[in-house]
Amino acid sequence: MNTTNQIPKAEIHVHLEATITPDLCRKFANKNKVDLPSDIFGNKYAYEWSDFYDFIKKYDVVTSVIHTPEDYFELTYNYLKDCASNGVLYVEAMVSSTHAKLKGMSYHSFLDAVEEASKKAETDFGIVSRYIMNGIRHLGSDSVQNTAKEVLDNPRSFLVGFGLAGDELHFPPNLFIETFDMLKKENFPITVHAGEWDGPENIRNAINLLHPTRLGHGVRSIEEPDLVKEIIDKDIILETCPTSNIATKIYEDYKSHPVKTLFDQGVKVTVNSDDPPFFNATIQGEYKVMEDLGLNEKQLISLTHNAIKYSFCDEENKNKLLSKLS
Ligand SMILES: [Zn+2]
Repeated sequence: MNTTNQIPKAEIHVHLEATITPDLCRKFANKNKVDLPSDIFGNKYAYEWSDFYDFIKKYDVVTSVIHTPEDYFELTYNYLKDCASNGVLYVEAMVSSTHAKLKGMSYHSFLDAVEEASKKAETDFGIVSRYIMNGIRHLGSDSVQNTAKEVLDNPRSFLVGFGLAGDELHFPPNLFIETFDMLKKENFPITVHAGEWDGPENIRNAINLLHPTRLGHGVRSIEEPDLVKEIIDKDIILETCPTSNIATKIYEDYKSHPVKTLFDQGVKVTVNSDDPPFFNATIQGEYKVMEDLGLNEKQLISLTHNAIKYSFCDEENKNKLLSKLS
Protein backbone atom coordinates (compact mmCIF):
# COMPACT_ATOMS: atom_id res chain seq x y z
CA MET A 1 0.00 0.00 0.00
CA ASN A 2 1.46 3.39 -0.92
CA THR A 3 1.32 6.47 1.30
CA THR A 4 -1.60 8.16 -0.38
CA ASN A 5 -3.91 5.23 0.32
CA GLN A 6 -3.42 5.75 4.05
CA ILE A 7 -3.64 9.55 4.05
CA PRO A 8 -6.96 10.92 5.35
CA LYS A 9 -8.30 13.08 2.52
CA ALA A 10 -10.82 15.82 1.86
CA GLU A 11 -12.21 17.33 -1.30
CA ILE A 12 -13.80 20.77 -1.57
CA HIS A 13 -13.98 21.35 -5.34
CA VAL A 14 -16.05 18.80 -7.22
CA HIS A 15 -19.16 19.36 -9.33
CA LEU A 16 -21.70 16.79 -8.12
CA GLU A 17 -23.54 16.41 -11.44
CA ALA A 18 -20.18 15.79 -13.13
CA THR A 19 -19.29 12.86 -10.87
CA ILE A 20 -21.63 10.65 -12.90
CA THR A 21 -19.86 7.47 -14.02
CA PRO A 22 -20.43 6.02 -17.52
CA ASP A 23 -22.37 3.11 -15.96
CA LEU A 24 -24.68 5.44 -14.10
CA CYS A 25 -25.01 7.66 -17.17
CA ARG A 26 -26.15 4.69 -19.28
CA LYS A 27 -28.49 3.50 -16.52
CA PHE A 28 -30.17 6.91 -16.15
CA ALA A 29 -30.34 7.37 -19.95
CA ASN A 30 -32.18 4.03 -20.27
CA LYS A 31 -34.52 4.75 -17.42
CA ASN A 32 -35.26 8.32 -18.48
CA LYS A 33 -35.41 7.48 -22.19
CA VAL A 34 -32.61 9.82 -23.24
CA ASP A 35 -30.93 9.05 -26.57
CA LEU A 36 -27.23 9.48 -25.95
CA PRO A 37 -24.98 10.18 -28.94
CA SER A 38 -22.63 7.21 -29.33
CA ASP A 39 -19.51 9.40 -29.45
CA ILE A 40 -19.66 10.65 -25.84
CA PHE A 41 -17.95 7.61 -24.30
CA GLY A 42 -14.23 7.73 -24.93
CA ASN A 43 -10.92 5.92 -24.76
CA LYS A 44 -8.71 8.58 -23.24
CA TYR A 45 -11.22 9.79 -20.66
CA ALA A 46 -14.51 8.23 -19.58
CA TYR A 47 -16.21 10.83 -21.77
CA GLU A 48 -14.77 11.97 -25.06
CA TRP A 49 -14.39 15.68 -25.87
CA SER A 50 -11.98 17.75 -27.97
CA ASP A 51 -11.57 21.28 -26.56
CA PHE A 52 -13.00 23.44 -23.78
CA TYR A 53 -16.21 24.37 -25.63
CA ASP A 54 -16.75 20.76 -26.71
CA PHE A 55 -16.17 19.78 -23.08
CA ILE A 56 -18.94 22.19 -21.96
CA LYS A 57 -21.22 20.74 -24.66
CA LYS A 58 -20.53 17.13 -23.68
CA TYR A 59 -20.86 18.03 -20.01
CA ASP A 60 -24.42 19.18 -20.73
CA VAL A 61 -25.18 16.02 -22.74
CA VAL A 62 -23.81 13.68 -20.09
CA THR A 63 -25.51 15.41 -17.16
CA SER A 64 -28.79 15.74 -19.09
CA VAL A 65 -29.61 12.14 -18.11
CA ILE A 66 -30.12 13.16 -14.45
CA HIS A 67 -33.88 13.71 -14.29
CA THR A 68 -35.31 12.93 -10.86
CA PRO A 69 -34.60 13.37 -7.15
CA GLU A 70 -34.02 9.58 -7.06
CA ASP A 71 -31.27 10.04 -9.66
CA TYR A 72 -29.68 12.75 -7.51
CA PHE A 73 -29.86 10.42 -4.51
CA GLU A 74 -28.09 7.59 -6.36
CA LEU A 75 -25.50 9.92 -7.88
CA THR A 76 -24.64 11.50 -4.52
CA TYR A 77 -24.58 8.23 -2.59
CA ASN A 78 -22.40 6.49 -5.19
CA TYR A 79 -19.85 9.29 -5.24
CA LEU A 80 -19.62 9.48 -1.46
CA LYS A 81 -19.32 5.69 -1.19
CA ASP A 82 -16.41 5.71 -3.63
CA CYS A 83 -14.73 8.59 -1.78
CA ALA A 84 -15.15 6.89 1.60
CA SER A 85 -13.51 3.71 0.27
CA ASN A 86 -10.48 5.83 -0.63
CA GLY A 87 -9.98 7.41 2.78
CA VAL A 88 -11.90 10.64 2.17
CA LEU A 89 -13.28 12.10 5.42
CA TYR A 90 -15.04 15.14 4.02
CA VAL A 91 -16.54 16.22 0.68
CA GLU A 92 -17.88 19.66 -0.14
CA ALA A 93 -19.55 19.33 -3.52
CA MET A 94 -21.00 21.97 -5.81
CA VAL A 95 -24.57 21.46 -7.00
CA SER A 96 -26.65 23.28 -9.60
CA SER A 97 -30.29 24.14 -9.02
CA THR A 98 -30.27 25.44 -12.60
CA HIS A 99 -29.67 21.90 -13.82
CA ALA A 100 -32.28 20.39 -11.51
CA LYS A 101 -34.93 22.92 -12.57
CA LEU A 102 -34.19 22.41 -16.24
CA LYS A 103 -35.26 18.79 -15.68
CA GLY A 104 -38.43 19.76 -13.84
CA MET A 105 -37.26 19.26 -10.27
CA SER A 106 -37.92 21.89 -7.63
CA TYR A 107 -35.24 23.52 -5.49
CA HIS A 108 -36.33 21.52 -2.46
CA SER A 109 -37.02 18.18 -4.17
CA PHE A 110 -33.49 17.78 -5.52
CA LEU A 111 -31.86 19.15 -2.38
CA ASP A 112 -33.96 16.79 -0.21
CA ALA A 113 -32.57 13.88 -2.24
CA VAL A 114 -28.95 15.08 -1.98
CA GLU A 115 -29.36 15.61 1.78
CA GLU A 116 -30.88 12.16 2.27
CA ALA A 117 -27.99 10.56 0.37
CA SER A 118 -25.48 12.62 2.36
CA LYS A 119 -27.00 11.45 5.65
CA LYS A 120 -27.15 7.80 4.55
CA ALA A 121 -23.51 7.87 3.38
CA GLU A 122 -22.48 9.38 6.72
CA THR A 123 -24.35 6.62 8.59
CA ASP A 124 -23.07 3.84 6.32
CA PHE A 125 -19.45 4.97 5.77
CA GLY A 126 -18.73 7.80 8.22
CA ILE A 127 -18.06 10.30 5.43
CA VAL A 128 -19.28 13.86 6.13
CA SER A 129 -20.47 15.98 3.19
CA ARG A 130 -21.78 19.50 2.68
CA TYR A 131 -22.83 21.36 -0.47
CA ILE A 132 -22.27 24.61 -2.34
CA MET A 133 -24.84 26.09 -4.72
CA ASN A 134 -23.27 27.24 -7.96
CA GLY A 135 -24.36 30.16 -10.09
CA ILE A 136 -23.51 29.62 -13.76
CA ARG A 137 -21.72 32.65 -15.26
CA HIS A 138 -22.59 32.10 -18.91
CA LEU A 139 -26.31 32.11 -18.08
CA GLY A 140 -25.85 35.76 -17.15
CA SER A 141 -26.00 37.94 -14.06
CA ASP A 142 -29.78 37.68 -13.58
CA SER A 143 -29.62 33.89 -13.47
CA VAL A 144 -26.79 33.98 -10.91
CA GLN A 145 -28.64 36.58 -8.86
CA ASN A 146 -31.86 34.51 -8.82
CA THR A 147 -29.94 31.36 -7.86
CA ALA A 148 -28.25 33.15 -4.95
CA LYS A 149 -31.45 34.81 -3.79
CA GLU A 150 -33.26 31.49 -3.68
CA VAL A 151 -30.51 30.06 -1.48
CA LEU A 152 -30.69 32.99 0.95
CA ASP A 153 -34.50 32.85 1.06
CA ASN A 154 -34.56 29.06 1.55
CA PRO A 155 -31.69 28.20 3.90
CA ARG A 156 -30.78 24.54 4.34
CA SER A 157 -28.26 23.54 6.97
CA PHE A 158 -26.25 21.28 4.65
CA LEU A 159 -26.06 23.99 1.94
CA VAL A 160 -23.11 25.92 3.27
CA GLY A 161 -21.82 28.19 0.52
CA PHE A 162 -22.28 29.83 -2.85
CA GLY A 163 -19.98 29.40 -5.85
CA LEU A 164 -19.50 30.93 -9.28
CA ALA A 165 -18.70 28.55 -12.15
CA GLY A 166 -18.91 28.44 -15.94
CA ASP A 167 -17.31 30.50 -18.70
CA GLU A 168 -14.71 32.63 -16.94
CA LEU A 169 -13.30 34.23 -20.10
CA HIS A 170 -16.48 35.86 -21.35
CA PHE A 171 -18.25 36.51 -18.04
CA PRO A 172 -15.82 38.39 -15.76
CA PRO A 173 -16.30 39.14 -12.04
CA ASN A 174 -17.62 42.70 -12.49
CA LEU A 175 -20.90 41.32 -13.88
CA PHE A 176 -21.73 39.70 -10.57
CA ILE A 177 -20.90 42.40 -8.01
CA GLU A 178 -24.50 42.93 -6.89
CA THR A 179 -25.06 39.23 -6.15
CA PHE A 180 -21.86 38.83 -4.20
CA ASP A 181 -22.42 42.03 -2.22
CA MET A 182 -25.79 40.58 -1.23
CA LEU A 183 -24.16 37.29 -0.15
CA LYS A 184 -21.46 39.13 1.79
CA LYS A 185 -24.05 41.21 3.62
CA GLU A 186 -25.64 37.94 4.78
CA ASN A 187 -22.23 36.49 5.73
CA PHE A 188 -22.81 33.66 3.28
CA PRO A 189 -19.54 31.84 2.44
CA ILE A 190 -18.24 32.40 -1.08
CA THR A 191 -15.93 30.60 -3.49
CA VAL A 192 -15.30 31.74 -7.06
CA HIS A 193 -13.72 29.96 -10.04
CA ALA A 194 -10.91 32.29 -11.16
CA GLY A 195 -7.46 31.93 -12.67
CA GLU A 196 -8.21 28.69 -14.48
CA TRP A 197 -8.79 30.05 -18.01
CA ASP A 198 -8.07 33.70 -17.36
CA GLY A 199 -4.99 35.27 -15.84
CA PRO A 200 -3.95 37.40 -12.83
CA GLU A 201 -6.17 40.38 -13.58
CA ASN A 202 -9.31 38.27 -13.41
CA ILE A 203 -8.12 36.70 -10.16
CA ARG A 204 -7.45 40.12 -8.65
CA ASN A 205 -10.91 41.30 -9.73
CA ALA A 206 -12.53 38.17 -8.33
CA ILE A 207 -10.82 38.76 -4.97
CA ASN A 208 -11.56 42.48 -4.79
CA LEU A 209 -15.06 42.55 -6.28
CA LEU A 210 -16.61 39.28 -5.08
CA HIS A 211 -15.05 38.72 -1.59
CA PRO A 212 -14.31 34.97 -1.80
CA THR A 213 -12.37 33.23 0.96
CA ARG A 214 -11.51 30.51 -1.55
CA LEU A 215 -10.72 30.46 -5.25
CA GLY A 216 -11.59 27.58 -7.57
CA HIS A 217 -8.22 26.87 -9.25
CA GLY A 218 -6.50 30.28 -8.88
CA VAL A 219 -3.31 28.67 -10.18
CA ARG A 220 -2.55 31.32 -12.79
CA SER A 221 -1.79 33.68 -9.88
CA ILE A 222 1.70 32.21 -10.28
CA GLU A 223 2.17 34.60 -13.22
CA GLU A 224 2.39 37.60 -10.81
CA PRO A 225 4.44 37.31 -7.61
CA ASP A 226 2.56 40.25 -6.04
CA LEU A 227 -0.72 38.43 -6.50
CA VAL A 228 0.64 35.29 -4.88
CA LYS A 229 1.69 37.47 -1.94
CA GLU A 230 -1.80 39.02 -1.78
CA ILE A 231 -3.38 35.55 -1.72
CA ILE A 232 -1.09 34.54 1.15
CA ASP A 233 -1.65 37.80 3.06
CA LYS A 234 -5.44 37.60 2.69
CA ASP A 235 -5.39 33.93 3.72
CA ILE A 236 -7.23 32.84 0.59
CA ILE A 237 -7.35 29.11 -0.13
CA LEU A 238 -6.74 27.70 -3.59
CA GLU A 239 -8.91 24.76 -4.61
CA THR A 240 -6.44 23.41 -7.17
CA CYS A 241 -7.33 20.63 -9.62
CA PRO A 242 -4.06 19.67 -11.37
CA THR A 243 -5.38 16.76 -13.47
CA SER A 244 -8.31 18.86 -14.66
CA ASN A 245 -5.95 21.65 -15.79
CA ILE A 246 -3.76 19.22 -17.70
CA ALA A 247 -6.76 17.53 -19.36
CA THR A 248 -8.03 20.92 -20.55
CA LYS A 249 -4.49 21.78 -21.73
CA ILE A 250 -3.93 24.81 -19.50
CA TYR A 251 -0.67 23.09 -18.50
CA GLU A 252 1.23 20.47 -20.41
CA ASP A 253 2.07 18.12 -17.55
CA TYR A 254 2.32 17.86 -13.76
CA LYS A 255 5.89 19.14 -13.77
CA SER A 256 4.87 22.41 -15.44
CA HIS A 257 1.74 22.79 -13.27
CA PRO A 258 2.29 25.51 -10.60
CA VAL A 259 0.65 23.65 -7.68
CA LYS A 260 3.94 22.53 -6.10
CA THR A 261 5.55 25.97 -6.47
CA LEU A 262 2.49 27.67 -4.94
CA PHE A 263 2.61 25.16 -2.08
CA ASP A 264 6.34 25.82 -1.55
CA GLN A 265 5.75 29.58 -1.58
CA GLY A 266 3.33 29.24 1.33
CA VAL A 267 -0.06 29.44 -0.39
CA LYS A 268 -2.70 27.34 1.37
CA VAL A 269 -3.43 24.75 -1.28
CA THR A 270 -5.96 21.94 -1.53
CA VAL A 271 -6.20 19.31 -4.28
CA ASN A 272 -9.45 18.28 -5.93
CA SER A 273 -10.89 16.21 -8.78
CA ASP A 274 -13.27 18.85 -10.29
CA ASP A 275 -15.21 16.74 -12.87
CA PRO A 276 -13.76 13.27 -12.18
CA PRO A 277 -14.79 11.00 -15.10
CA PHE A 278 -14.34 13.76 -17.69
CA PHE A 279 -10.62 13.80 -16.85
CA ASN A 280 -10.17 10.31 -15.35
CA ALA A 281 -9.42 12.19 -12.14
CA THR A 282 -9.98 10.95 -8.59
CA ILE A 283 -9.34 12.66 -5.30
CA GLN A 284 -6.91 9.90 -4.28
CA GLY A 285 -5.18 10.38 -7.65
CA GLU A 286 -4.66 14.08 -6.92
CA TYR A 287 -2.98 13.25 -3.59
CA LYS A 288 -0.78 10.77 -5.46
CA VAL A 289 0.19 13.55 -7.89
CA MET A 290 1.32 15.66 -4.94
CA GLU A 291 3.23 12.73 -3.46
CA ASP A 292 4.98 12.24 -6.81
CA LEU A 293 5.80 15.97 -6.87
CA GLY A 294 7.65 15.47 -3.60
CA LEU A 295 5.24 16.08 -0.71
CA ASN A 296 5.89 13.92 2.34
CA GLU A 297 3.19 12.36 4.50
CA LYS A 298 2.94 15.35 6.83
CA GLN A 299 2.66 17.75 3.89
CA LEU A 300 -0.01 15.59 2.25
CA ILE A 301 -2.02 15.68 5.47
CA SER A 302 -1.65 19.49 5.50
CA LEU A 303 -3.68 19.54 2.25
CA THR A 304 -6.50 17.77 4.07
CA HIS A 305 -6.11 20.11 7.01
CA ASN A 306 -6.44 23.14 4.69
CA ALA A 307 -9.52 21.69 3.00
CA ILE A 308 -11.34 21.00 6.26
CA LYS A 309 -10.24 24.11 8.15
CA TYR A 310 -11.28 26.41 5.29
CA SER A 311 -14.36 24.42 4.35
CA PHE A 312 -17.75 26.01 4.96
CA CYS A 313 -18.79 23.21 7.36
CA ASP A 314 -20.00 24.10 10.87
CA GLU A 315 -17.34 24.45 13.58
CA GLU A 316 -18.43 21.40 15.56
CA ASN A 317 -18.05 19.01 12.62
CA LYS A 318 -14.91 20.79 11.47
CA ASN A 319 -13.24 20.23 14.82
CA LYS A 320 -14.35 16.58 14.90
CA LEU A 321 -12.86 16.05 11.43
CA LEU A 322 -9.66 17.95 12.21
CA SER A 323 -9.13 15.85 15.33
CA LYS A 324 -8.89 12.78 13.07
CA LEU A 325 -5.80 14.26 11.40
CA SER A 326 -3.58 14.44 14.46
ZN1 LIG B 1 -14.68 23.53 -11.12
